[in-house]
Amino acid sequence: MLRRSLLALSRSSRVKDLVSTMPVSSGIVARYVPGETTESAVEATRRLTEDGLLVTLDYLGEDTLDRAQAEHTVQAYVDALKALGANGLSHSAEVSVKLSAVGQALPDDGEKIALDNARTICQAARNAGTTVTLDMEDHTTTDSTLEVLRNLRQDFPETGAVVQAYLHRTEADCRELAYEGSRVRLCKGAYKEPESVAFQDKHDVGKSYVRCLKVLMAGRGYPMVASHDPTMIDIAGALAARHNRQRGSYEFQMLFGIRPDEQRRLAREGEKMRVYVPYGNEWYGYLMRRLAERPSNVTFFLHSLVSKS
Ligand SMILES: Cc1cc2nc3c(=O)[nH]c(=O)nc-3n(C[C@H](O)[C@H](O)[C@H](O)COP(=O)(O)OP(=O)(O)OC[C@H]3O[C@@H](n4cnc5c(N)ncnc54)[C@H](O)[C@@H]3O)c2cc1C
Repeated sequence: MLRRSLLALSRSSRVKDLVSTMPVSSGIVARYVPGETTESAVEATRRLTEDGLLVTLDYLGEDTLDRAQAEHTVQAYVDALKALGANGLSHSAEVSVKLSAVGQALPDDGEKIALDNARTICQAARNAGTTVTLDMEDHTTTDSTLEVLRNLRQDFPETGAVVQAYLHRTEADCRELAYEGSRVRLCKGAYKEPESVAFQDKHDVGKSYVRCLKVLMAGRGYPMVASHDPTMIDIAGALAARHNRQRGSYEFQMLFGIRPDEQRRLAREGEKMRVYVPYGNEWYGYLMRRLAERPSNVTFFLHSLVSKS
């Protein structure tokens, strides 16, 4: 119930205006977002790579209906990619992009604008010697995002896909995507979705996650296991062993600030472990989805809000 309310609030502009006045340094925001600038993202990347971790940077923003804002986001990614290259970090850091932040939701030709913008980011990533992964958003965008991915992969086959285990369709999508060279991030899914398209019970989501993992680990692609759930991590390891996958032919991924000790443990054991690092000032929607996953954080969050005023 609380999860659904928080996810509904993640789309409320009134609450967004109130909450967004909190500084990024305030406790609960800083836990999940290391900073607002390219410099803070590069600095966070440097610290994580010193611990043997890999990184994917996300310039925060989504659902833009403003073409200039979409172009601003593209430029932010190009700047970040140049900065990663200039700081010798592009071998261990890539970027994650939400198509709705680069124009997908614009009326009429949004999908084409997003494709062109994503192409610009993919070219900048290639110039820097790294890659792009397309985040997956709510189910109304899944077909469009997979279509953009298909187009992008013609020129940039290294582009990563994301699939969400809570959607009924995802096991079939995994079968389509488990081909040689295909990088696929499997996550549970973070949006408020109706029963008609998504499993609602967390056990059903977990069972779907395992079915999808089986397809990806048995396939010829490169699975990216994005979860903090110890059961999913154990099962992924066991499936990798069952399919004689070498370490490095798949990777684990977790979010910045969540289970950092476990992130370091997996890296120490020789696993590839990538941390998703969001940065920028549009952190509201991201923060609300993190609170929805962990309602016990809500008290801490409300305390931050009250002590600010
Ligand atoms: C690298 C990465 C990329 C992602 N990309 C996308 C995407 O493109 N699209 C999308 O819809 N979703 C994305 N997600 C989010 C994902 O869908 C889930 O919402 C999120 O990962 C929580 O699911 P879980 O598998 O960790 O399992 P859960 O069952 O939610 O969590 C397992 C355990 O992890 C810890 N934990 C989980 N969340 C939190 C939290 N917020 N705060 C503190 N502890 C927590 C707790 O110990 C919890 O018991 C991504 C997640 C990761 C790790």
